[in-house]
Amino acid sequence: MIETFQLYKTYQLGAVRVEVLKGIDLTIQEGEFVSIMGPSGSGKSTLLYLMGGLDQPSSGRVKVKGKELSAMKDREVSILRRRTLGFVFQFYNLIPNLNVEENIMLPVLLDGKQPKAYRHRLEAILETVGLAGRRRHTPRELSGGEQQRVAIARALINEPDIILADEPIGNLDTKTGMGIMELLQRINREQGKTIVQVTHSREAATYGQRIINLRDGKVWEE
Ligand code: ADP
Ligand code: MG
Repeated sequence: MIETFQLYKTYQLGAVRVEVLKGIDLTIQEGEFVSIMGPSGSGKSTLLYLMGGLDQPSSGRVKVKGKELSAMKDREVSILRRRTLGFVFQFYNLIPNLNVEENIMLPVLLDGKQPKAYRHRLEAILETVGLAGRRRHTPRELSGGEQQRVAIARALINEPDIILADEPIGNLDTKTGMGIMELLQRINREQGKTIVQVTHSREAATYGQRIINLRDGKVWEE
C-alpha cells in the first residue's frame, strides 16, 4: 500500500539545517495497522506527511498503491489525497461553524460531488463511529472523543484505502483514547483499511499489528 525508499528529509531554517529523516525504507502492506513511535522531534509527523503526499522528501521516493508520488502531477496527488487517503490529526481540525454531518461531508463537497448520493454512506459511517444521535451538533457541543470520531468519519467518507493518523489520541484521556483505538481497530479488521498511526502511547500501539520505532531519523527497531 505504501513503500518508502531511502527517504531523506532536511529542513533548512536560515543557516540552520535539520536532518530529520536519514534513509527510511518501509513497506506497509494492504490491511495492516501499523504504529510509528519515537521521541518527540524524531520525525514521526514528517514521515507520515511524506507518506501522505502532504510534503515532499529532500531525496528518496514514496509509492502509494504502486504509484510514485514524485512522478505524479500536483493535481493527481491531491486527488489521491482526497480519494485514497484519509487523514486524522491530534487536534481534529474540524470546522467550528459546521455541524457533525456537514463536517463529515466536507471532502465530498470539496470534490464537487452531489451530497445526495452519499446519504446512505453517511448514515452507515455515523453508525460506525457512534454519532448517529449527534448529527446536528457543532464541534464545541461535543466532547474531545466525539470530535475525534467526527474527524475519523470525515476521513472515511470518500472510502479511502488508507487512514493516516497523527497522534489521534494525543489530546484525549486514556479511557476515551482507548475507545478511539477500538474504533480504528474495528475499521481495520471489518473494513480492511490500512492504518498508519503515530502515537506516544505503547498501549495504543498494541491495537495495531506492528510497531516501527524511529530514532535519530532512522528506523531502529520494528
Ligand atoms: P515528531 O512528530 O516526531 O515530534 P516532527 O516530524 O514534527 O517530529 O519534527 C521533526 C523535527 O523537524 C523537529 O526538530 C522539528 O522542529 C523539525 N521540523 C518539523 N517541521 C518543520 C518545518 N516545517 N520547518 C522546519 N523544521 C521542521
Ligand atoms: Mg508529531
